[in-house]
Order: sequence, then structure tokens, then C-alpha cells
Amino acid sequence: MDLKSTPARDAILCFLKSSKSPVDVEQIIEYLRSNNLNTNKVTVYRNIERLYKDGEVERLEFGEGKFRYELKKNHHHHLICTGCGKIEEVEGDFLNKMEEEIYRTGGFKVKNHVLEFYGLCRKCQIKN
Ligand SMILES: [Zn+2]
Ligand SMILES: [Zn+2]
Repeated sequence: MDLKSTPARDAILCFLKSSKSPVDVEQIIEYLRSNNLNTNKVTVYRNIERLYKDGEVERLEFGEGKFRYELKKNHHHHLICTGCGKIEEVEGDFLNKMEEEIYRTGGFKVKNHVLEFYGLCRKCQIKN
């Protein structure tokens, strides 16, 4: 069976395209089922991990004990609300200067970095 064009794979890509924030496997399963694609955890894991290995999706870990996935896109960072779990995205690279400095002072060439912001969204700030 050609994994490259299974209905599950296509539907997962479609779901990721429409999602504004990274999704977990449970959400993917929910989406597939609501689109009448009978599926299970194993199938979803296999497909999403294949997409990850193919370089089509990004795999993220926000300390929740599970992975989240999103389509590869412009460099951005995440704002994770520890109150309600909402995840937003911010565009822009805030570390350019720091990376230049690292190279200038120690010769280390930074190729990539991981930076996520944890805090409270507007709604959760009002609640507290
Ligand atoms: Zn919140
Ligand atoms: Zn993202």
C-alpha cells in the first residue's frame, strides 16, 4: 500500500492546513471520524510520523507528555497559555542578534533554536 496517498494522510494534511495551532493525535482522530474516515490511533500515528519524517510537518513538544503537529511554515514561535492550554503563534525571529553574538564571540554557528513562551492569555489574565 502506498502511504503517500492514503485517504488518512490526505485528510490529516487537510486538517493541519485548516488548524491555527498545533494539533495532537486525539484531535486528528476526531477530525478524521467527523469526516467519516474510520481510523484508529495506530493508523494516525503511522501517517503523522511518516509526514514528519518526509519533512512535511513539524513535531512539537510543550511539556504535555505528548507531541503536537503542524504544517511546516515560516519561522515562528508559540505562546502557550498555562491557564486554558490555548496555543497561539507569533511570527518573527527574536534571536538573530543573539545568534550573531554567539558566532562572533565563540565561533559557534547556530543553525536552529527552540523557543516557546509560557504564560497566560488575555482571558485567563482576567479570570485570575
Ligand atoms: Zn488561557
Ligand atoms: Zn506553530
